Amino acid sequence: MANVHGKDTIIERQVRSLLHKKGYRFRKHVAGLPGSPDIVLPKHQATIFVHGCFWHGHTGCRKSRLPTTRYAFWEEKRKANLERDARKISELINKGWRVAVVWQCILESSETLSTTMNTLENWLNSESKHCEIPDGMRHRRINSISHHIDSKVFTLPFILLYTEVSLVLASLVKRAVCIRASLRGLYSFASVGRQFWLPF
Ligand SMILES: [Zn+2]
Repeated sequence: MANVHGKDTIIERQVRSLLHKKGYRFRKHVAGLPGSPDIVLPKHQATIFVHGCFWHGHTGCRKSRLPTTRYAFWEEKRKANLERDARKISELINKGWRVAVVWQCILESSETLSTTMNTLENWLNSESKHCEIPDGMRHRRINSISHHIDSKVFTLPFILLYTEVSLVLASLVKRAVCIRASLRGLYSFASVGRQFWLPF
């Protein structure tokens, strides 16, 4: 399951270098293990995959959007990658390995990179079998919402509801402006009246 485009991406090297600085020792691209994990830490019985968001289909990630041209071709290709990834992860876990998947997009800014390395380190020193960074649940939720928005069934009602809400808000603002103007008029009328009728 090493990266489809070349085995040694810059980001992968960066993760290895940071792990090395923290004192972890590892092997890379271990061909003897299912999916040839990008990083293998035998002492921690842990394997790490650094996944490119596009090729490995990072759920809910903008970097994983398929091109509109030859959509079916890309979809099929990626579906095969996803199935293979899932199969290899379960093979590794069945063999007693722990598996972490780190998505490329989370490693691209220096802030998220350091948070990710801390999360990864915490996981390495835990008993947990599987870890996904960023957390898969959040992305699945975002994806399920965007799926509803994307799907033809939900698009029209969603647009109508959005338009309806916008119109109601606009009419409320208009009413508030009218009320404010009326109150101002009433106030100035009362002031004039008071000056005129009650000069003392
Ligand atoms: Zn991503």
